[in-house]
Amino acid sequence: MENCIFCKIAAGEIPSTKVYEDDQVLAFRDLEPQAPVHILIIPKKHYASILDIPCDATSPLPAMAAAAQKIAQEQGIAQSGFRLVINTGKDGGQSVPHLHMHLLGGREFGWPAG
Ligand code: 5GP
Ligand code: ZN
Repeated sequence: MENCIFCKIAAGEIPSTKVYEDDQVLAFRDLEPQAPVHILIIPKKHYASILDIPCDATSPLPAMAAAAQKIAQEQGIAQSGFRLVINTGKDGGQSVPHLHMHLLGGREFGWPAG
């Protein structure tokens, strides 16, 4: 998708601090981390939000979940715990219209959020 910042990161046109990559998914460190570990997991294919993904065998979510499992282990936060967040739309606080999952860890989070 033209003019999509995360498509450009996925294409290597904008630099990022990559922590994980496979054929479907890329994960990189958030530019403005909200926790000691703050990683964005994106499908390489463009979907504006979770509203736009297929919910069948072609869904990008299983690959994103598998990436989250591996990254949490690698970053040493699988046992201490972490938070996965998918902001969606205006009220959800989504600022980049390319589906992404925040993986946040290394500190304790309160609930409810925000
Ligand atoms: P959202 O608010 O859409 O859920 O999250 C977007 C996230 O992308 C924000 O946490 C923001 O810091 C991050 N972000 C925006 N632009 C860039 C960028 O160019 N590189 C990286 N690594 N993160 C970005
Ligand atoms: Zn995109």
